Amino acid sequence: MNRALPQLAEYLCRERGMRLTSWRRRVLGIIASASQPLGAYDILRELRVARPDTAPVTVYRALDFLLAQGFVHKLGSLHAYIGCDHPNHPHAGQFLVCRDCGRVEEIADRVILRSIDRAAGHSGFQARDGLVEIRGRCRACSR
Ligand SMILES: [Zn+2]
Ligand SMILES: [Zn+2]
Repeated sequence: MNRALPQLAEYLCRERGMRLTSWRRRVLGIIASASQPLGAYDILRELRVARPDTAPVTVYRALDFLLAQGFVHKLGSLHAYIGCDHPNHPHAGQFLVCRDCGRVEEIADRVILRSIDRAAGHSGFQARDGLVEIRGRCRACSR
């Protein structure tokens, strides 16, 4: 959860000459205030509370933009989106996914990223997205 994210995104968009349209802002706001990663249909359901005619494509377009700008990450295994904790520089994060409560924490470790690139390179593989999901149990659930 990163409630400051929409404001930060607004600032970064201005700096990058991009436009944070109201849909993009709304989708980001929903993701940023959620305590867990959200699927596209969770987001759609929230948007439809205020605007019942919202189409899925609206959500997907907004998500594409937010992903491209690095404001959110997509967790493939969960088919869910999570706000980025440091969207000012593009990166593929590592995510600690708690199997008990579903909470997800982002750690952005450059050493891990570099290791992935190096190891992939040894296999002649060009890593395009080094996002890593690590499953386990969070601190609160371990107590
Ligand atoms: Zn991130
Ligand atoms: Zn937990």
